[in-house]
Amino acid sequence: MKSAFFVSSLLVGAQAFNPTLPLNNAFVQRQAARAEPIRAVRTRGDMDMKYRVVVVGGGPSGSCAAEELAKDKNIETVLLERKMDNAKPCGGAIPLCMVSEFDLPAEIIDRKVRKMKMISPTNREVDIGQTLKPNEYIGMTRREVLDGFLRQRAVNTGATAINGLVTKVELPTTEGGRYKIHYSNFEKGTGAAGIPETIEADVIIGADGANSRVAKAIDAGEYNYAIAFQERIKISEEKMNFYEELAEMYVGDDVSPDFYAWVFPKYDHVGVGTGTVINRPAIKMYQKAIRDRAGDKIANGKIIKVEAHPIPEHPRPRRVVGRVALIGDAAGYVTKCSGEGIYFAAKSGRMAAQSIRELMAGGTRLPTEKEIKDTYIKDYDRLYGPTYTVLDILQRVFYSSNAAREAFVELCESEYVQKVTFDSYLYKRVQGNNPVEDIKLLFKTIGALMRGNALAPRDKPVYNPVESLKRL
Ligand SMILES: Cc1cc2nc3c(=O)[nH]c(=O)nc-3n(C[C@H](O)[C@H](O)[C@H](O)COP(=O)(O)OP(=O)(O)OC[C@H]3O[C@@H](n4cnc5c(N)ncnc54)[C@H](O)[C@@H]3O)c2cc1C
Repeated sequence: MKSAFFVSSLLVGAQAFNPTLPLNNAFVQRQAARAEPIRAVRTRGDMDMKYRVVVVGGGPSGSCAAEELAKDKNIETVLLERKMDNAKPCGGAIPLCMVSEFDLPAEIIDRKVRKMKMISPTNREVDIGQTLKPNEYIGMTRREVLDGFLRQRAVNTGATAINGLVTKVELPTTEGGRYKIHYSNFEKGTGAAGIPETIEADVIIGADGANSRVAKAIDAGEYNYAIAFQERIKISEEKMNFYEELAEMYVGDDVSPDFYAWVFPKYDHVGVGTGTVINRPAIKMYQKAIRDRAGDKIANGKIIKVEAHPIPEHPRPRRVVGRVALIGDAAGYVTKCSGEGIYFAAKSGRMAAQSIRELMAGGTRLPTEKEIKDTYIKDYDRLYGPTYTVLDILQRVFYSSNAAREAFVELCESEYVQKVTFDSYLYKRVQGNNPVEDIKLLFKTIGALMRGNALAPRDKPVYNPVESLKRL
């Protein structure tokens, strides 16, 4: 893909939906009301020896995996989530194709972004999005709403949800033996600590995000990560009108030495944030800079939430070990350059679960490590490997200096660049390129880089004795 995506709960059972932010969303509340009561988790003895797959983590990856598995009633699917109304720190931007592919109802999309402003280190502004058709948009969601919806759908399909924090995973000691998952059960009203319990699993899907315990348990290996910081800021209605259909992306070493900063419109506020890998301790300095750059447009806003979270930079060395498969952020599926991960999380969850379900042949057998790698991992890498590679190259080229960032913004003026970028992002497929336009683009890039060198302020050296400049 050539895209730089910018170019970036339910209380299960009969309880009420309770998101962190005020929510006038009757639809989501209706979904919650329809929820089935929590079914007690059965033990192997009283369940006719059904194989049990436990999905750890109920974000987009885990919920989509659980939904897919639950379609086979011969497999027992359990979804373990530590916080049913979790509001994952996130920009919440999703591509158009996710709405249809994952059958998301209109109510999940708070705003439809049809315009994008790219702002260079010298504050040159380029509007992109002119090539969008009237029905095309980038969906802006609140994660507590999106995740709640997807999780509920998994429960409605037949998954058993447990509100618990996984603390430890014990590996089987015999071939074909079961994994033992230790968790604190928060469902039984014992306050913050919960009740320590265990559940056995024949297969585990690790969907527990960037700090995955499942990944640790199987020694999946480390990945380098960015730290992303976001403030949700409530601004006046008049200022909010400006962001009605508009998202902004700022580049410059003041706001990030290796990423971009953003202002994204949300339900009734804006998300203002930035990220960095190479100078993580300075993240608050970069956050102040993006607030300053956005200036009057967000002035006098009230910060209603401050959030920060790691963003993986590349897949883990091992994504399947034994009968454990990692998906989403736990696997490391966020694209460079854009920091996009929601779609890839949902997609990897669905793909891993489909493979495992098929390999389990109607719940009659267990999948092997090799079989899961030969299906889920191979298919995922074939489908999205090129996307990760291209975006990695783009990040290295265009976020490396102010001169390159200036050139990047200039290039975004090209209708061809806009079309290829948006089409690739919105539809997640490599767009048919035009060789003549590609050659023109190459020359434009060289010219823009030369102009960027002349115009843009030199980058300040990043002195960071704590963090390594070396990417893994
Ligand atoms: C500031 C920021 C902005 C971002 N903006 C965007 C954006 O605009 N668009 C985009 O596409 N991507 C964005 N991303 C990336 C995106 O948020 C992730 O890629 C995506 O959330 C991955 O989904 P997931 O289901 O794999 O993991 P997560 O969403 O992290 O979900 C993991 C789930 O597991 C649960 N969990 C964790 N540990 C345990 C445990 N031990 N026991 C039980 N449950 C557990 C958590 O509560 C959580 O619900 C952003 C990330 C950040 C940090």
